[in-house]
Amino acid sequence: MRRLQIVVLGGGTGGTMVANRLRRRFDADEAEIHVVDRDDRHVYQPGLLFVPFGLTSLDEIVRPRRRQLRNGIVFHEREIDAVWVERDEVLLDDRTVLPYDVLVVASGSRLQPEETEGLTGPGWNENVFTFYTPEGADALRSALERFDGGRLVVNLVDMPTKCPVAPLEFAFLAEWYFQEREARDRIELVYATPLDGAFTKPVASEHLSGLLNEKAIELVTEFNAGEVDSDRGKLVSYDGRELDFDLLVTVPLHGGAAFVERSPGLGDVLGFVTTDRTTLQSTGRPNVFALGDATDLPTSKAGSVTHFEAEVLVENVARFLAGKELEAGYDGHANCFIETGFHKALLIDFNYETEPLPGHFPTAFGLPLLRESRLNHLGKLMFQWVYWHALLPGRDLPGLGPTMPTAGKKSALVHRE
Ligand SMILES: Cc1cc2nc3c(=O)[nH]c(=O)nc-3n(C[C@H](O)[C@H](O)[C@H](O)COP(=O)(O)OP(=O)(O)OC[C@H]3O[C@@H](n4cnc5c(N)ncnc54)[C@H](O)[C@@H]3O)c2cc1C
Repeated sequence: MRRLQIVVLGGGTGGTMVANRLRRRFDADEAEIHVVDRDDRHVYQPGLLFVPFGLTSLDEIVRPRRRQLRNGIVFHEREIDAVWVERDEVLLDDRTVLPYDVLVVASGSRLQPEETEGLTGPGWNENVFTFYTPEGADALRSALERFDGGRLVVNLVDMPTKCPVAPLEFAFLAEWYFQEREARDRIELVYATPLDGAFTKPVASEHLSGLLNEKAIELVTEFNAGEVDSDRGKLVSYDGRELDFDLLVTVPLHGGAAFVERSPGLGDVLGFVTTDRTTLQSTGRPNVFALGDATDLPTSKAGSVTHFEAEVLVENVARFLAGKELEAGYDGHANCFIETGFHKALLIDFNYETEPLPGHFPTAFGLPLLRESRLNHLGKLMFQWVYWHALLPGRDLPGLGPTMPTAGKKSALVHRE
């Protein structure tokens, strides 16, 4: 009997979870599962936030990709060149062609610092840094150690970005870090964002703006960064406003994977895969599915989202192959710990329709929502273990699923994006 061919593009958070779940779901004589990624370095990306502050190191957050995949999954360490959706084939950079019955796109998002004028100029990794890459996070650690006075600007260039709260967490942790080093009174901290508040959703935004204020971190809103002049230490917005900096920490523009742009019928102009918001099937091709940062869905680009989507996606791949109706099982559920320094963190939980609200998660007796607590900080730290040992292997976590729990939330306020 011919075996089904399932090809998964990307061996990061989503690709690994999906491949492992599919491997459990289908016997080896039923389906061949292929995963493609350009390298063999799986980075636990939430850990990148802690590297600049010396709270963890790259050794602790990077593991071989192959070792995260179950036996019986074929791993191709290659660059994906293009997808020929009309022919149900993937082309790799060594001209290997992988035919598929079902394709899962989990190729994440791509940082595009070169799209902002001057950002990767002479100051790149000198006085301008990003912690969104392992190398950048490590270089920033040394720069922070040397930084003893002046103006540190944290800038989110534009949405969408992975983990939109990570730059805020960076600002909070920087405040803690310089206080610990007794240098805080010599350092001005500025948070510049293109949004009209600290965050996208009103209730959370109000809480987070309050925290920035408490920590004396200046909030600059509606700042659309267009140019960096690292020699003069100036960040310039499209409307001509200038922010002086001695050290700039940037979250650069994000787009989808370049091969998505090169593959007609797969994605939008930004390179994100056009995806049905509840079934995770591509809107263009019925045998293509997508999850995580690679989609065009109006939810956060976050590991939690990727995890919730993986459960629905795997179910729907199985239904599709069995000729059954797909399940509209994903409601945009996202969940995020926000580190606020001094061993505390906030937790937010929301979906397409409901914005982050106060209360408790996942029930009235759970972790506090939208309130700083040590318990949330411990939750954030513990998550790395959960990631390697439960999420990536594709195990279900009780209480954490693709639909947002409402028990424990304080208000029935509904917010539509
Ligand atoms: C600093 C930081 C902090 C974060 N903190 C959190 C957090 O606290 N909580 C949270 O939920 N999320 C957090 N995230 C976001 C989270 O890590 C991502 O949303 C998640 O990893 C997305 O999974 P993914 O599978 O879609 O993409 P990825 O895990 O990025 O995987 C995509 C893979 O595709 C591969 N790929 C792409 N193009 C090609 C190609 N052409 N050829 C071959 N391979 C290719 C890449 O090499 C990569 O391995 C954070 C991210 C960052 C950067």
